[in-house]
Amino acid sequence: TATLYIVPTPIGNLADITQRALTVLEQVDLIACEDTRHSGKLLSHFGIGTKTVAIHDHNERQRAQWVIGRLEQGQSIALVSDAGTPLISDPGYHLVTQVREAGHPVVPLPGPCAATTALCAAGLPSDRFSFEGFLPAKGKGRLDRLGVLAREPRTMIFYESPRRVLDTIADIIEVMGPDRPLVLARELTKTFETIEGRPAADLLAWLKEDDNRTRGEMVLMVHGHKAQEDELDGQTVKTLKLLAKELP
Ligand code: SAM
Repeated sequence: TATLYIVPTPIGNLADITQRALTVLEQVDLIACEDTRHSGKLLSHFGIGTKTVAIHDHNERQRAQWVIGRLEQGQSIALVSDAGTPLISDPGYHLVTQVREAGHPVVPLPGPCAATTALCAAGLPSDRFSFEGFLPAKGKGRLDRLGVLAREPRTMIFYESPRRVLDTIADIIEVMGPDRPLVLARELTKTFETIEGRPAADLLAWLKEDDNRTRGEMVLMVHGHKAQEDELDGQTVKTLKLLAKELP
């Protein structure tokens, strides 16, 4: 039966493509790409000649109906993004929703993803974590989002841009304090892969020492909030204040 396959591609190291990804990309009738020129290079590297079409954020909803039409004609389609797993801070969500609603099978392939790759080497708690994608780019929006996350107990994973990372860490210090443990994973699977973990203020100082430390693609991870034993919630504080008034 005609199927939509979700196919992850490497996040830097081409050897990370899976055997199954290559087979699917070769056998489908059509590959839907975030950027046909970008994916074209990857496909030609692996000698795959399958036809490509563009599906990106701006035309995804309309293109979904077109894809469903193809599936109805019996054609199978693979969705790829520029790098890593489609739908993870990449297009594909609307397409998958509509294809499932139309009753066609969606088959996901496991493969490269910067978030989980980074987490596995961070040394931060990995039993529970929260993928936060990109923070809002602007100062106020970013501070507000971080404020909401200040007491989040799970490890948080952010995608970050080299242009903003220093400002983001400064905001984290403001909202979560200078001692919050952070880990920055940069250029994963590539030649200059570095994974550096330090308390927030230390990490900021360390990054400012050398421009090379903020170059390239990066994942920023934040240790979850640790509830202090001596920290009381709002209602308890109110109750204690009321009780204190009654004391002689
Ligand atoms: N779909 C992709 C995935 O599965 O990871 C993510 C796409 S998102 C548009 C791109 C962001 O992912 C980059 O800005 C960076 O934060 C992160 N990223 C991608 N490749 C990376 C790498 N090799 N090392 C570190 N971060 C990476």
